[in-house]
Amino acid sequence: MKLEKKAVHMQEQPAQDRIKNFDEVPLGYIEEEAIREASRCLQCVKKPCIAGCPVLMDIPGFIEAIKKKDFEKALRIIRDTNCLPAITGRVCPQEDQCQKVCVIARVGDPISIGALERFVADWHRLHTPHSTPPLVSSPLAGEDEGGGVKIAVVGSGPAGLTCAAELTGMGYAVTIFEGFHEPGGVLVYGIPEFRLPKAIVSGEIDYLKSLGVHVATNVLIGRALTIADLFQKGYKAIFIGTGAGLPQFMGIPGENLNGVYSANEFLTRVNLMKAHKFPEYDTPVKIGKKVAVIGGGNVAMDAARTAKRLAAEHVYLIYRRTENEMPARIEEVVRAKEEGIEFQLLTAPVRYVGDEKGFLRQAECIRMELGEPDSSGRRRPVPIKGSEFKIEIDQAVVAIGSTPNPIIRRTTPELKVKKRGEIEADEDGRTSIPGVFAGGDIVTGAATVITAMGAGRKAADAIDKYLKNRHSRR
Ligand SMILES: Cc1cc2nc3c(=O)[nH]c(=O)nc-3n(C[C@H](O)[C@H](O)[C@H](O)COP(=O)(O)OP(=O)(O)OC[C@H]3O[C@@H](n4cnc5c(N)ncnc54)[C@H](O)[C@@H]3O)c2cc1C
Repeated sequence: MKLEKKAVHMQEQPAQDRIKNFDEVPLGYIEEEAIREASRCLQCVKKPCIAGCPVLMDIPGFIEAIKKKDFEKALRIIRDTNCLPAITGRVCPQEDQCQKVCVIARVGDPISIGALERFVADWHRLHTPHSTPPLVSSPLAGEDEGGGVKIAVVGSGPAGLTCAAELTGMGYAVTIFEGFHEPGGVLVYGIPEFRLPKAIVSGEIDYLKSLGVHVATNVLIGRALTIADLFQKGYKAIFIGTGAGLPQFMGIPGENLNGVYSANEFLTRVNLMKAHKFPEYDTPVKIGKKVAVIGGGNVAMDAARTAKRLAAEHVYLIYRRTENEMPARIEEVVRAKEEGIEFQLLTAPVRYVGDEKGFLRQAECIRMELGEPDSSGRRRPVPIKGSEFKIEIDQAVVAIGSTPNPIIRRTTPELKVKKRGEIEADEDGRTSIPGVFAGGDIVTGAATVITAMGAGRKAADAIDKYLKNRHSRR
């Protein structure tokens, strides 16, 4: 059989069209394209892609099922380890994980694993209504009134959703407590519609609800209820998956001017509060004509591309290193450039300048050069003396990272945390408090959807062991 070195191309909206709407950019494979791409897989003996996936999905297995046109089987294989395939198929950094180790990558394009995963999830959503698989009954089920040992999951991002889905499948009575009015975490308030349509996220969450996961929204743990209150209410174990949603600022003069936003606020206003649909939704956001986005990660790309779609005339992406060091996914960097985002590399703002009414008017920036590698292994940006210059802007969006919100740790003093506020947990999610587990960005700091899901899965197993152990000692 001849090896097909080129991947089947996925169609996408042309740049000049997509900057005028919030519709999804890549359009997904049609059936014939998916089968053609699946047929490129060599089904190699070592299957390195499986180990390259943080949730150890049987990738060759589901690809073989696509090749045989058995999409139901493909979905069953995927869902065995991954409860959010329509999401991970779209946003996982496959180029650094499963696709990076694909053996075909040595001679050509790796198999488009993410695109195939997305195809299967979308095919299923379009062709079959939700079915509710029977729940596996746990030996502990029925211990409490209402059926099943009660477990609380705090936070409904990918870590919490995965942990809840796994535990529900084991027969526990799981309630997710979410501070916002909608579940999904960064999947709903951070990642924009044009990369991850919210109907896709709610479809995946509806599926989890159909399995029996209960979601209580508008409940901020640490305010409405504490961790101790949850134990008092009869929850026998608690998983904390509250993410890292507290934005960081640079601490430079002028950051409190009108028009300076954190990326977190800017994206939340557009994605969750639908500011781009104002006045249909009564939650507007400032729409700048000249917007500077500070940062070089996925968050910065999302903010810059969102500003462009809100009709900004110029969007500058200001990043202190070069494109080689950018943490954003390569395909999103390429798309940002196609959409006309103006990259100001080796540059950092040093202060913002406002007018007499306190509105942002300029960013004073300095040029940088790369010095010796720092603790991250990347070359340190060093300011070039006397290279300061000003850019006219009326909006700045700061996307330089985020840390965990302190609400839970402040009301749970016995919970051990690290210097930047991440919860201390072992690799199965056990924290310093017996019965309290944690995983996802709240433990690792800002990371990825699939690592958060992997942590949720591991913690679910550890919670099950903990409860069975406790039960057997009674
Ligand atoms: C703009 C943006 C783009 C990104 N793009 C990508 C990408 O392309 N690919 C990728 O893999 N990763 C991406 N990431 C990172 C990824 O989204 C996160 O790593 C992942 O969502 C972390 O999952 P989590 O479950 O740990 O936390 P989150 O998704 O942050 O979810 C935490 C949830 O907990 C809730 N919560 C917090 N505190 C409380 C409390 N006290 N009580 C109740 N609820 C609470 C929050 O409201 C939230 O819903 C991106 C992140 C951002 C911000």
